[in-house]
Amino acid sequence: MTLTPLGGGREIGANSYLLSLDGKNILIDAGRHPVKEGYESLPEIDKINDLDVIMISHSHYDHLSSLPYISQRWPNAPILMAQENKGLALRILQNSVEVMKKKNAKDGVEPILYNHGEVNELKRRIYPMEYFQRYSIDDVVDVALYPAGHVMGAASIFLEHRGRRILYSGDISLSQQLTIPPAQLPKKVETLISEGTYGAKENQLLTRYSEIERLSKSVKRVLENGGRILMPVFALGRGQEAIYMLLMLMEKKKIPSVPIYTNGMVASLSSLYMSNYESISEKDRKWFIKSFQNNVTVAPKSIERLLFSREPALFVFSAGMLVEDTLSYIFAKQMLPNSKDAIFFMGYQSPESDGYKILQANKNGDERIQMGDDSIEIGTKNIDIFNFSGHADYQELLDLPRRLQPEKLIYVHGDEAALENLAEELQYEFEIQIPSNLQTVEL
Ligand SMILES: [Zn+2]
Repeated sequence: MTLTPLGGGREIGANSYLLSLDGKNILIDAGRHPVKEGYESLPEIDKINDLDVIMISHSHYDHLSSLPYISQRWPNAPILMAQENKGLALRILQNSVEVMKKKNAKDGVEPILYNHGEVNELKRRIYPMEYFQRYSIDDVVDVALYPAGHVMGAASIFLEHRGRRILYSGDISLSQQLTIPPAQLPKKVETLISEGTYGAKENQLLTRYSEIERLSKSVKRVLENGGRILMPVFALGRGQEAIYMLLMLMEKKKIPSVPIYTNGMVASLSSLYMSNYESISEKDRKWFIKSFQNNVTVAPKSIERLLFSREPALFVFSAGMLVEDTLSYIFAKQMLPNSKDAIFFMGYQSPESDGYKILQANKNGDERIQMGDDSIEIGTKNIDIFNFSGHADYQELLDLPRRLQPEKLIYVHGDEAALENLAEELQYEFEIQIPSNLQTVEL
């Protein structure tokens, strides 16, 4: 029984892990690298000889977005994912096709890795699974999904093979978020494959509620001073969480009531969330639907008027790390020079991203920053990051193996320093490995 990272080993990259169990090859997750482009963004799929099953933990870009490409090569491998994830996955992949086409039309270089027809093909290949239900794969291995918190439809993947229980945490959150309940875990496992996004010590986090307090004060200050606020979000998860929170703060009169603008993808995932998600109460759901309809506007296709308007407003736009040419990127470039405006990040920023660069430049007191071909003046001091992450914080990452008591602990999905830090902290309690990409380890 072995595991080989094809992406996501000692990094947050194109997360994809090949498990080999008595000749059965199971691929867990099929992501693309959040910053790299084209073929470079794919996992190392040339190393796959054969695939029997593909399992997907959740619908974030770095876990899902190479699925149609991989599934084309192994069309007979069924794809397993949580029932609640299926609609989201298809919607997000259709959007990825549009993004690739747009880029290709612009630069003529970006490959279109898959088309709408190939995404539609997946409808037949995806087998939606109920949480907690066990499924047998050819009587060789049993699999089950556990709710992972994190975002709607997210799952930790449990496998049992010859009496050995293995859990892949996926992106996991052990605490309650505004719109998502915490993860649920199996009792015990022999092998834990854990994410380690927030494994660095400084991510000993403030509670979500103290972050809401801090954000609400900052938002109030900027809006009352006549500024506009950009909140870059990941369309799935942070998008819903941010809008839900802003609506709640407006209703409680903690922040001024101003228009909230979002983009089509955040809005469309929010409506899937509001119509399909069973983990929030009927009362909260109704409140969310109504407040959303009353206060949230989808940004129009021609954005000039909105971009240059000086009216106080909140912009909840993807992409969360300011990927080039996205709405959040375009607005960030326009807003950075204005001393009244603000950019409040909502979650993890990869060190290669423009989001990270802006935060660093603000810290260093730099006056300008290079974004794409343009040098942009930094005229505002209102740049901050708030932790509304859907990931386990440092303490939770330590709790996770302590609760599951595995004989073997394997870390993936984190910056190298963060994973090393976790391993050092737990070195006397567990046997720990941190495989690099293409390094095979025993499970
Ligand atoms: Zn995720």
